[in-house]
Amino acid sequence: MSLKPNGNYRNLKDSYLFFRIAQKVAAYRDAHPGLPIYRLGIGDVSRPLGGAAIRAMHEAVEDQAKAETFHGYTPECGIPEFRQAVAGYYARRGIRLDPEEVFVSSGASDELGDILDLFDASSAALITQPAYPAYVDASVMAGRKVSFLTAGPDNDFLPLPGEDTEADLVYLCSPNNPTGAVYSLEQLQAWVDFANARGAVILFDAAYEAFVEGDLPHSIFETKGAETCAIEICSFSKTAGFTGTRLGYTVIPKALEREGLNLNAMWVRNRTTKTNGISYVLQKAGIAVLTDEGLRQVEESIRFYKQNAKVLMEALDAAGIRYWGGKNAPYIWMECPDGMKSWDFFDLLLNEIQVVGTPGEGFGACGEGFFRLSSFGNPEDTRIAAERIRKLLEKQ
Ligand code: PLP
Repeated sequence: MSLKPNGNYRNLKDSYLFFRIAQKVAAYRDAHPGLPIYRLGIGDVSRPLGGAAIRAMHEAVEDQAKAETFHGYTPECGIPEFRQAVAGYYARRGIRLDPEEVFVSSGASDELGDILDLFDASSAALITQPAYPAYVDASVMAGRKVSFLTAGPDNDFLPLPGEDTEADLVYLCSPNNPTGAVYSLEQLQAWVDFANARGAVILFDAAYEAFVEGDLPHSIFETKGAETCAIEICSFSKTAGFTGTRLGYTVIPKALEREGLNLNAMWVRNRTTKTNGISYVLQKAGIAVLTDEGLRQVEESIRFYKQNAKVLMEALDAAGIRYWGGKNAPYIWMECPDGMKSWDFFDLLLNEIQVVGTPGEGFGACGEGFFRLSSFGNPEDTRIAAERIRKLLEKQ
């Protein structure tokens, strides 16, 4: 008998989305050399890190150069000062966390997969779709049964649990990638009440929380009772431009228990076994991001991206196209014109006006007929792309 691989990988669907986009763009570029292409498809940021983070990293590198200030391994769950800084960030919105409820991570993607270690293989995942593709794939790799709760224009892309909803684990993402939709406090409360009543656990992906405006919730811990049913996964990627730098954090309340096991204590055990901490230099940068100066720089970046979103939304308004998102998220989720399928619309934009976006079908079957535009690009390209979209769609 030879080694048995993890057969769950056979159940993964081929993830064509970004590969297929790259192939189509490369083919178009080869056929039309020199013609500019305007990219509104990326989920990556384009602005450099803020000055506070950069300065802190330089200083931390200097620390590592001297015996008196050198740091070896950092604590697996996070440097105390980092955990305290995150707790302080939550306190600004009136959420009280014990710093020991905060765990440093190297980003949300890593955590979304790793955290499944806490749950028995029999636990079934409920994924609200359209969704960030990693939720499905990480659950399938871990052998979890997956079911879907689909969103659409009828519920403004914010599905809620019903009488017959069943789940052990619930994935929620607000502000949402790809739809840009944000749950209200009442809606999040409905999910929290559902999870507490069923003994389910919510994995709340708050990667885009810094884009939220007004009274809408940034965190699931703004609801009542979330401390007994929710884990929040956050990232510095989209807020502070750390996509290539890699830093995030996860909040697991000490009150979160199932069948006599404490999930916070289990995660301490997990991290101290499976990691050796996150870079001292990066945690110092994260602490700097959460200072007044750092947060002002985050706001400035977000304002910059939101200006791009505004330019895109104005073009869609002028063309009479329905869309969601854009205001509290870096993504605009538009309806394809005339009932077009999302890949056909992708081809139309690429071939006619050299604009690249992301077909909604790539985020789940219920994304068919919709299309994601990203505001993370450069303003001049975004302005040209918006103008081209407006002219093309006004003609349709
Ligand atoms: N969660 C969502 C909803 C995302 O869109 C992304 C990245 O695009 C991530 C998590 C991953 O973030 P990170 O860079 O922290 O791994």
